[in-house]
Amino acid sequence: MPVVPEFDSTPAAYRIVAGAVRTMNPEQPTAAALALRGDRIVAVGSLAEATAACPVGTPVEDFGDATILPGFTDAHLHMQRGGLKLLLEMGDAEHSLDDFIAVMNETGLKSSPGDDVEPTMDARLTGLRRIQPLLHSLGFTGIIDPAATDLELAGYERAYAEGVLTMRVLAMPYPNVGDADNPTIDAAIERLRGVGIRTGFGDDMLRIGGIKIYFDGEGMKGEALLPEPWPESGEVGVQRIPTADFEKLVEFCAANGWSVGVHAVGGAASAAVVRAFEKADAISPIAGRQWQVIHAYLETSDDTMTRAAAIGAVASVQASIALRNAAGLVGKLGSRAERVNPLRSWIDSGAVVALGSDGPFFPFDPRELMWSAITRRMRGRDEQFAPDEAITAEEALRGYTVNSAIAAFAGDRRGRLVPGWLADFTVSDADPLAVEPEQLLTARTLHTTVGGRTVFTAATAPRS
Ligand SMILES: [Zn+2]
Repeated sequence: MPVVPEFDSTPAAYRIVAGAVRTMNPEQPTAAALALRGDRIVAVGSLAEATAACPVGTPVEDFGDATILPGFTDAHLHMQRGGLKLLLEMGDAEHSLDDFIAVMNETGLKSSPGDDVEPTMDARLTGLRRIQPLLHSLGFTGIIDPAATDLELAGYERAYAEGVLTMRVLAMPYPNVGDADNPTIDAAIERLRGVGIRTGFGDDMLRIGGIKIYFDGEGMKGEALLPEPWPESGEVGVQRIPTADFEKLVEFCAANGWSVGVHAVGGAASAAVVRAFEKADAISPIAGRQWQVIHAYLETSDDTMTRAAAIGAVASVQASIALRNAAGLVGKLGSRAERVNPLRSWIDSGAVVALGSDGPFFPFDPRELMWSAITRRMRGRDEQFAPDEAITAEEALRGYTVNSAIAAFAGDRRGRLVPGWLADFTVSDADPLAVEPEQLLTARTLHTTVGGRTVFTAATAPRS
């Protein structure tokens, strides 16, 4: 059993947690206990081994037969906007998780904070104070915010500085390509050049990710760029940035230390994005830099997936959009939409498949999203959608742990329970790798720790 050398032998710096540990580490898949020192894991093994790694008298937190898992990272969650939306819809009070999920499910795509009046910094911090514990109570220890405006970046910076941040955040700056301030691609490039920092800056609580770019529009609005026209409009969809501009921007990013994440819903969009990534990759390799193809859920070709995998691009995909919209998309596209969100194909391509939700505008409860990814069942229809695109429970869990940590530039220290790695874990009363998929829906999180620090315990959670 590997043990990290000890430097601090103060018992207070140590914790021992016991339970049915699923490490997601292929070399040691299960264990009975973890020993923590400060924000790190120092031992993974039997209770005796964990105890031996700690000073005498270190107490044991025993979770019995509950399952200890690596903390989840949602690879696509608008957390700050979600906090503001929570305030807008529910008010500033302590809310139960069930109420929160119900209200967000109902109002997801409606009213958005900032629609009429720009939220204050105070509101941003209050929103974060309210939403983080609710997300921790779903097992989350980290998120990728996939489009952080300047004001949202400022909000995260303040939250970090004031100690409000308990969730690890990778914030992807959104340079508003094509708006009044950056009307041309050259203006956007100049702006990026002037920022002075780039992808990777920050620490394990708050880090700058790749920039967010939109290539096409939304599926349900018939804006996803498809290989063949949408029957209703006779149009192939909406391309929001000319290909030449897009290629210029990503080539600049490749050469200048920026990563990118690109919204590409339809198969023609994801194909064009991957072609541009290949050109950028030829200038400066993108492997290991977590360039993301985001969404890619409608008529994604096998060729696109294989090519994305070959250059080391990450597929940042969400079972949530299909969960909510698949039935409606079949109404618009017929059998063309049956293969919506082809997770099986994405995984088989060899790409890193990071799971997320696009919450809180789409359903973000990982229990329901894992269930949907495993069963290919979605709202509004009884029959499964293309069952051969189903993934296993282990693959779904990997998508929320190992792979989303990779997408968050932390694949060497988060997403698995390994000595020396960050002490981020969550405890569930159901073992996602052993229970029937239906039982996932009612699994309860009992505890969540971020960096050795308890951020949620079921005992203190408000009830509905
Ligand atoms: Zn989004």
